[in-house]
Amino acid sequence: MALLPFSRMEDRGFDLEGRLDDLEDADLKRTLSPVDRVAERGYFAPPSGSELPVLDSTEALVFASNNYLGLTDDQRVENAARQAAATVGTGAGASRLVTGDTMVHRDLERQLAETKGAERALAFSSGYAANVGTITALEPDVIFSDEYNHASIIDGCRLADAETVVYDHCDAADLRSKLEERADRDGASEESWLLVTDSVFSMDGTVAPLEAICNAAEAHGAWVMVDEAHATGLYANGGGVVQAEGLADRIHIQLGTLSKALASQGGYVAGSEDLIECLVNDARSFVFSTGLAPPAAAAASEALHIARHSDVRERLWENVAHLRDGLESMGLEVLGDSQILPVIVGDRTDALALAEGVRERDVVAPAIRPPTVPEGTSRIRVAPMATHDRDDIVACLEAFRATGDELGLL
Ligand code: PMP
Repeated sequence: MALLPFSRMEDRGFDLEGRLDDLEDADLKRTLSPVDRVAERGYFAPPSGSELPVLDSTEALVFASNNYLGLTDDQRVENAARQAAATVGTGAGASRLVTGDTMVHRDLERQLAETKGAERALAFSSGYAANVGTITALEPDVIFSDEYNHASIIDGCRLADAETVVYDHCDAADLRSKLEERADRDGASEESWLLVTDSVFSMDGTVAPLEAICNAAEAHGAWVMVDEAHATGLYANGGGVVQAEGLADRIHIQLGTLSKALASQGGYVAGSEDLIECLVNDARSFVFSTGLAPPAAAAASEALHIARHSDVRERLWENVAHLRDGLESMGLEVLGDSQILPVIVGDRTDALALAEGVRERDVVAPAIRPPTVPEGTSRIRVAPMATHDRDDIVACLEAFRATGDELGLL
């Protein structure tokens, strides 16, 4: 149900320009303050320079975190958060549309837009809020959604009250046939269609076939939304799988979290100027929620800067390759083709025993069991970080080998 009438485009997408015109005509359009007004409230440049710390391996080695670049205890990121707290405040104090808007937010959004190859970006208080707010604001009639999409996408689909067509995981052929089937229905040409997928799936380590998905969507005029929660700060220039595959111009909505590789808290959406203006007006999780805390925005900004302009991503990918080779050479089955390495065990009791055994050897890597994953596919989710050194990787492999031998799993 549209809050405001908007004329339907022939491409089955969303007439954002029309919507903004309607808001303007009804004298209801809100807009963030011009940048110079925000700048008057104070600006700081986050410092850069010190070395990345190495994880302390005297306790347990963590191979279970989404802090993929290891930046949550980086001195530069910490300094940026500290400085934002000192100059701008520990909290935004109000929604961005009221008095919660600062140059720290603007700086982060400018960097995100640039990294993602988008006209503009908007920060949300979490990735969850970004997904739910964006999907509901678009008010799609029909949503095509990968069966393994994140819960925040599923909740967005439910809250949007849209008809949701679920296609098989990463299966472009199944998607194509479901699009075709749905297009044959009476009145389909009048509907708005949204196709939504994670880019990197966190439980399977799989990467969505984005180009095939774009081809399928374009054949039916559907818009594409990609959740880069597990890819932001990684891949290509740090701009995720969308950048790595050169698809920024074909994907209408890029979205992600600041809480994984970017070592902070919060979420974002990147896309066209019109998309962001619509979200500023209609995404309820943006409009009616306090602006992201300035220290969180500043930390993410600094982490993104480091991700883009240092060798930290290369170090992660070297660790990923080393660990995957080592696990596979033991005869273990490792799924996916991303930085997440799910080791398939099968039986849930075996998976728990393996996780417990490696934990006794000072390595933390959790067992993932049903109902999170299908029966018979229990696994250990191994996630290396850029800040693991060679000894850490070797220690992790040794823990798997010793425990696997002990349990007769190798
Ligand atoms: N999307 C995906 C794919 C996620 O994995 C997550 C976090 N687990 C989110 C969205 C939500 O992000 P946040 O934690 O910032 O709410």
